[in-house]
Amino acid sequence: MPLDPPCIFCRIVQGKAEASLVYRDSLVTAFMDMNPIAPGHVLIVPNDHVPDLASLEAEAGSQMMSTAGRLSQALRRAPLEVEGVNLHLSDGAAAGQEVFHCHLHLIPRHAGDGIGFRRGLAHHDRDRADLDQVASMIRAGLTDGANT
Ligand code: AMP
Ligand code: ZN
Repeated sequence: MPLDPPCIFCRIVQGKAEASLVYRDSLVTAFMDMNPIAPGHVLIVPNDHVPDLASLEAEAGSQMMSTAGRLSQALRRAPLEVEGVNLHLSDGAAAGQEVFHCHLHLIPRHAGDGIGFRRGLAHHDRDRADLDQVASMIRAGLTDGANT
């Protein structure tokens, strides 16, 4: 790991950049998003730099998800308006990824908060034949033998 990494999330993990820490262990770090979509918006990052989801080791990914579970409960217990939580991960620039150190967003939600996707997936293929065809195209891209 470089002594003075350019990646802002690596710098936060190493305590070299300012952050409001929520949780930390040997695999992951969670801190407040500095530009929150809603109060309580937390980011969970692997401690080791990986740019994207495909590069994430299973152990770190699993710890990110279990930390998300614990924090979603903590968010509900906090004196914040939290009735639900969205998990969001932008993988790739086209998906809105701006910081290329893989990270999971925990976005607190409550009824009527107005947060949502602009366009639903229901606008796309709905026929079983179309869904089967797309499933088959995705299966063809699996390279680790995890086929069904
Ligand atoms: P994404 O679009 O998924 O790559 O999201 C990047 C997120 O990182 C945005 O929500 C930013 O507000 C957040 N962010 C960027 N730099 C920092 C920082 N130094 N501390 C906390 N959050 C940050
Ligand atoms: Zn990094």
